[in-house]
Amino acid sequence: MRKAGRWCLPGGRTTRGSRPCAPMSWVLTMPARRTPRNCAWVRSVGRVSAARSWHRKPPGGSLSSWGFGVLRVLWVTTKYGLMPSEVDMRGLRKLAPGPGHMKLVDVPDPEPGPGEVKIAVQAAGICGTDLHIAHGTYASSPPVTLGHEFSGEVSAVGADVADFEIGDRVMSEPMAAYCGRCLFCDRGQMNLCSERLSYGVNVNGGFAASVVVRKGAIHRLPHNVDFVSGAMTEPLAVCVHALTERTKIDGGQLVLVLGPGPVGLLAAMLAKTHGATVVVAGTTQDQSRLDVARAVGVDLTVTVDEVDLAEQLDALSKGAGGADITIEAAGVARSVEAAFKNTRKGGTIVQLGLFDEPIALDYSPVALRELNVIGSFAQSWSSFEGALELMAQKRVNVEALVSAILPLNEWEQAFHRAEQKDGAKIILTPGKRIKAFRVKDAE
Ligand SMILES: [Zn+2]
Ligand SMILES: [Zn+2]
Repeated sequence: MRKAGRWCLPGGRTTRGSRPCAPMSWVLTMPARRTPRNCAWVRSVGRVSAARSWHRKPPGGSLSSWGFGVLRVLWVTTKYGLMPSEVDMRGLRKLAPGPGHMKLVDVPDPEPGPGEVKIAVQAAGICGTDLHIAHGTYASSPPVTLGHEFSGEVSAVGADVADFEIGDRVMSEPMAAYCGRCLFCDRGQMNLCSERLSYGVNVNGGFAASVVVRKGAIHRLPHNVDFVSGAMTEPLAVCVHALTERTKIDGGQLVLVLGPGPVGLLAAMLAKTHGATVVVAGTTQDQSRLDVARAVGVDLTVTVDEVDLAEQLDALSKGAGGADITIEAAGVARSVEAAFKNTRKGGTIVQLGLFDEPIALDYSPVALRELNVIGSFAQSWSSFEGALELMAQKRVNVEALVSAILPLNEWEQAFHRAEQKDGAKIILTPGKRIKAFRVKDAE
């Protein structure tokens, strides 16, 4: 296992190769470009030093400058968490197509190019998409580091990046690239661009200590939104896009959410903030998630294999024969059939769930009941800004959905728990400094 800083040995030598490691005073005085490539910790401190234009005297110097240097090291290592051996430098990668091929492996420390920003990842959520990629049922570009829901702190910036600086608290959109020329890019619908690439799917993502992203993908975290909530921005933005940009939701409506996974629960919470009456339906397997739904204040939860959903809805739909809006967030045929049956005539179904395989079902109800079926995929820039505002205003308490915060080296257990639907959202902490930077109601 390789960890940052492990390579430095007393006497200024390294564990790999014979190239000497820099003495401390030199670490603090050299420009970043002279940093030895074989010492991650020295490289990091050197970069911070160069970026902040600290103490640029030549090597050597007086006793007082040595003392000053030691103080600098203590300050830097405390503030930026660069203590040797602290940060696990491995990344969780999909190594080959097909089921499995997931492994925690050594990954290179990435450097930001022009227009790019390096983020020290503090929190990264496990998403259904990650599980699909692990099973080989969602197309990815291996070998690739997974993780597309992450937040952290800017640790380096590339050329042409003036709007972010080291220490900024940020989250990144998953969209790594788009063509910028097609009809959809022209309309600002980059989520529909055929050349769209995503971090954690096609380009290295956030299940690693550091990730490099394009500056246009980054959003600042409001001062009172901590890193764990920051990592939940992406799934909340999925819901903002689905419920407020793809359709409209209001206080008089009955909203049915099918599938109480993290996205389903966030959609339910968002519908509640708009004053809707919200019903969340799941199976007996979803019991702990239905408990979360009740805890966050939905009006009714229904276990569909124990009670009749239509009967339960009837009491709330005032004779309309079903929900005004149904959010399908389970991605299974049975759930789509339930949506056709339990959405009122002329009502709207928002399809959010993705399917492991093609499904067969009777599609006639869409015509017979004049249902509006709306697809919703990913988000736009405004969805992220909307999600961050909701969290900053404390209108959606995303942390209520976090069931576990685990270090990256426990990823197998974390994925297993996500697979077993044990709780709603599991967060990994690749940067390992989560406690130092958690912000709770900073006002
Ligand atoms: Zn996701
Ligand atoms: Zn495009």
